Amino acid sequence: MAPNFGEASSNGRTADFGSAHEGSNPSASATPAGRTGNLRSELRSAARPRQALIAVLGTVEAPLLSQVAAALRAVVGCEVTRLPGLDRPGYAFNKDRGQYHAAAILRRLVPLRAGKDGVPVVGITDADLFVPDAPFVFGDSDRSDLTAVVSVARMRGEPRVGQEQLLRRLSSEAVHELGHLLGLLHCQDARCAMFQSQRVSDLDRKQPGLCGTCRAAAGLAG
Ligand SMILES: [Zn+2]
Ligand SMILES: [Zn+2]
Repeated sequence: MAPNFGEASSNGRTADFGSAHEGSNPSASATPAGRTGNLRSELRSAARPRQALIAVLGTVEAPLLSQVAAALRAVVGCEVTRLPGLDRPGYAFNKDRGQYHAAAILRRLVPLRAGKDGVPVVGITDADLFVPDAPFVFGDSDRSDLTAVVSVARMRGEPRVGQEQLLRRLSSEAVHELGHLLGLLHCQDARCAMFQSQRVSDLDRKQPGLCGTCRAAAGLAG
């Protein structure tokens, strides 16, 4: 059987669309008709990384970051290193939308991986992210570049949720995007971090961890 690398999208991108885009599932729509196989395993799993990088863009509370790093470490079982903080990504700001273009941020994360073959980088920002076809995204990732970005902007809630709940939401989404970089697609299990969240209530049902099937698909089992 021919390998089916990179079917999730032509460029390896997997945006996680916001709630005003009901029914949108970029992974599913890109799956060839008639293929009903396990979505999770349609991408080749990467080797378990020896290290993952976290890059903060803008202002995110330090305790939140260290706990997100711990959540990633627990899932992937590798060293998670925090890079020096970066400015809010003004270069990605779209003034018509008042939001930040996720793809532009992903491109700027690439050089942070210089000399670190196979090491993924996850950006964490307070900037409100968008992709052209969606009102907002919680996160976005580029599998071929091993870059991902996650935003807390839509997770804080109104009225603001407590730190514990915010931490859980952000950790789940960070694990989700890192999962994409490990080759995982979306999972049907609403408690698994790889479930696609379109609203914060979806995030609240999830654990910041992977189900057994996703762990196995990513080569993390055992
Ligand atoms: Zn996703
Ligand atoms: Zn799963």
